[in-house]
Amino acid sequence: MKTALVIGAGFVGASCAWQLQRAGHRVTLLDPGDFTRAASFGNAGHLAIEQVEPLASWANLRSLPQRLFLRGGPVGLPPRDIAAWLPFGLRLVAAATPARFAAGRQTLADLLSHAMPAWRWLAAQTGISQFLRQDGHFVAWESAASARRGKQHWLQADVGEARVQPASADELALLRAQFNGRAVDAVRFTHTGQVLDLAQAHQGLLAALQLAGGTVRSGQVRGLVSQGGRLHARCDDGADHTAELVLVAAGAASAELLRPLLGPVPLIAERGYHLESPAALLTGEGGLPPVAWEDRSVIVTRFASSLRIASFTEFSRSESPPDTRKWAALARHAADLGLPMAGSDASRWVGARPTLPDYLPAIGRSTVLPQLLYAFGHQHLGLTLSALTGELVAALATGAQPTVDLQPLRLERFR
Ligand SMILES: Cc1cc2nc3c(=O)[nH]c(=O)nc-3n(C[C@H](O)[C@H](O)[C@H](O)COP(=O)(O)OP(=O)(O)OC[C@H]3O[C@@H](n4cnc5c(N)ncnc54)[C@H](O)[C@@H]3O)c2cc1C
Repeated sequence: MKTALVIGAGFVGASCAWQLQRAGHRVTLLDPGDFTRAASFGNAGHLAIEQVEPLASWANLRSLPQRLFLRGGPVGLPPRDIAAWLPFGLRLVAAATPARFAAGRQTLADLLSHAMPAWRWLAAQTGISQFLRQDGHFVAWESAASARRGKQHWLQADVGEARVQPASADELALLRAQFNGRAVDAVRFTHTGQVLDLAQAHQGLLAALQLAGGTVRSGQVRGLVSQGGRLHARCDDGADHTAELVLVAAGAASAELLRPLLGPVPLIAERGYHLESPAALLTGEGGLPPVAWEDRSVIVTRFASSLRIASFTEFSRSESPPDTRKWAALARHAADLGLPMAGSDASRWVGARPTLPDYLPAIGRSTVLPQLLYAFGHQHLGLTLSALTGELVAALATGAQPTVDLQPLRLERFR
């Protein structure tokens, strides 16, 4: 049995760890263990297989001025973090050319076409199927003009394996009843999904890993060192972990770990914010699937025992102080939509999506250090792609044929 060390136990790392163990490795999964801050636990829970268009596009760049936070939009470019977002932005512009966008769309569509089957399989194998919901989602609008534009866009858009249709009269009535009468019109997606309880699904993955013989260790890796043909992970507490195979799956912290071994990686912390209320509203029969309010750029998700409103793409650093105006803005959106997160008892969260300039993940094996694998940079789709990423990493580790072409996901694309 080969030994494998997985650094980072978000959904990506946890899924990879379980798949590696299953593929015959003796796995140790290493993480500081405070899961409240990781994007894997603060996200919107949406299995978004419809998002086949990379966000690095001319269309997105053209609309950027209207989407800036300064003008009431979701995109934050904080002046204090200009040294992080300016070089990233220049690379994003270069990645948005029509040719690269078209290639990126093909890659993303390929990945997303396997995402739901991979989730179904992972959930069934690890005993967490009760947290997987495959009931689609809504996109809703609050004015006739935005509804006309938005509907026209989505009904003609490439949504991969998802399906989209106008919301029925009953569905619109339900949305109006639940959201303060705000929905003027909406579309209903099917074949998309949701993770109903992020913490419990994650616990289930870790339990399945341990049941299969893997180990979960608490530890913050301070540095990765190559010594005598082996990689060593040195931790804050002085512990030194080594294995025949090391996988870096540390989300937005991955670039920092890889820099001494592979050089700079253009990864940015694309931060999002949420407010959450423990009130389990929007219940009814089976509950309401996630609802994206496009005019506000927010998504509202009813989890098993809470309700969450999430938004914002703030190009910054994980450690920068939060911008409290963003929680205030979320509270205003919640109040308009008649949601309890407008109240002062709502919990506030900020965390970083790990994003690369072409909005594709990095999944591969180092050409310099063959014992080093990586899986990070899943941007807005890390929950959606986590189960598939585990399968791809296991294929890389064992030499099996991966289900998708991994060539476009190699880090060498940024050299
Ligand atoms: C507001 C918001 C909403 C989102 N909504 C969705 C959604 O609906 N659907 C979707 O698919 N995606 C969504 N995303 C994106 C998704 O959450 C991320 O892409 C995903 O969580 C990335 O997972 P990860 O495991 O790679 O990284 P993370 O979740 O960041 O986990 C990384 C782990 O690595 C550990 N780590 C870091 N440094 C070290 C170290 N030095 N040593 C050891 N361990 C370390 C951390 O403790 C952490 O547990 C959203 C993100 C945000 C912010």
